[in-house]
Amino acid sequence: MNVFTLERGTVPLLISLPHDGTQLPPAFAQRLSEPARVLPDTDWQVSRLYAFARDLGASMLIPHYSRYVVDLNRPPDDAALYPGQNSTGLCPLQRFDGGPIYRDGQQPDGSEIAERRQTFWQPYHDALVDELERLRSAHGRVLLWEAHSIRGQCPFLFDGPLPDFNIGTADGRSCNAQRQARIAACLAAQSTYSWVANGRFKGGYITRHYGRPDAGVDAVQLELAQRNYMDEASFAWSPERAARLQASIRDLLVAALV
Ligand SMILES: [Zn+2]
Repeated sequence: MNVFTLERGTVPLLISLPHDGTQLPPAFAQRLSEPARVLPDTDWQVSRLYAFARDLGASMLIPHYSRYVVDLNRPPDDAALYPGQNSTGLCPLQRFDGGPIYRDGQQPDGSEIAERRQTFWQPYHDALVDELERLRSAHGRVLLWEAHSIRGQCPFLFDGPLPDFNIGTADGRSCNAQRQARIAACLAAQSTYSWVANGRFKGGYITRHYGRPDAGVDAVQLELAQRNYMDEASFAWSPERAARLQASIRDLLVAALV
């Protein structure tokens, strides 16, 4: 089964978009609760938002399947990412609004979770490891950019409206300090968007696990508030807002890559 697309680029930048997928396996949709069937918690159209990065020479890793099947940005043992806070797991049971993903009795059991991990999670991570190693050995260092987006208001997950740009580097551990400083300086130099580094979102499993600055791999997660490129209720793309946002993300990637 083909569960992801990897496009190999020419510069030391791999953009991973683990929550972009919207496909479901056969007969999966009928197990879902009505509100879950429209996949509200997808990082909607985030691969479209980052399409410009191909022109920068970035590699792109894009999954095909929904995070409701398996969450690629969770550890394989499903340990909590943010202990003590509401979060969602490897094969999540709750939506971001706190409601159930599955109809009663349709939740996956342990063997189904193991099968999904094998079928959907493992191939994505194998490709991620291979591409990081290819770029790192070719260029000496590589930047892994974890591209995400989320509704700006999710009371179940966090208080208040989320800043526009949320940079996560595992509290500074997943990325070289100079590179982080260039990213922060780029954000500080603009006044269009609000931003925070290592606030509510500090980077998920991929950022924390693969970010090894001492071994030549810098990992940065950018969690974007979706209001800046789409309508959060209908998931509709907003061309003008998206174009403005893309220019700012481009500035950030260029500053990070120097
Ligand atoms: Zn995401």
